[in-house]
Amino acid sequence: MSLPKFTDEQKIWRDFDDEVAVVCPACAKKAIATRNTTEATARLLCTACGYNKTASILIPGTKGGKMIMAAHGYFGAQLWYQAPFKNEVFFALNEAHLDYMEQYIGSGIRENKGRTGYTLVEKLPKYIQVATNRQPLLKLIQKLRNKLSE
Ligand SMILES: [Zn+2]
Repeated sequence: MSLPKFTDEQKIWRDFDDEVAVVCPACAKKAIATRNTTEATARLLCTACGYNKTASILIPGTKGGKMIMAAHGYFGAQLWYQAPFKNEVFFALNEAHLDYMEQYIGSGIRENKGRTGYTLVEKLPKYIQVATNRQPLLKLIQKLRNKLSE
């Protein structure tokens, strides 16, 4: 049985970090943190309980300098897709990130036809890259995906 091939889509961390699934600080259900770089704001919104908080991403004392980090960072919120794996913590920022990692982890041959040395999957920690962790990680991803939000 051969495993599917993974072709690096040249995605980087920044392609995923402006919308992050988080644990709602109020009700512990699934909420979404977003970052809008143009408006220089971040928002944490929970459709389950109505929790709604905005934050500025501007750095005080600068002329419009922006603090750029993953959307949950502005609220110190915990990631929704996160679980311990051996001595590590496996996590994904959102569904798209989880899907992308699943494709990568489930693949046999991994190739990159573009620029190398900077893409998201190239920077993944070793434990995600090794074949012996493939099945347990795929199982974990499935568990995270099915994690009930209510
Ligand atoms: Zn909530």
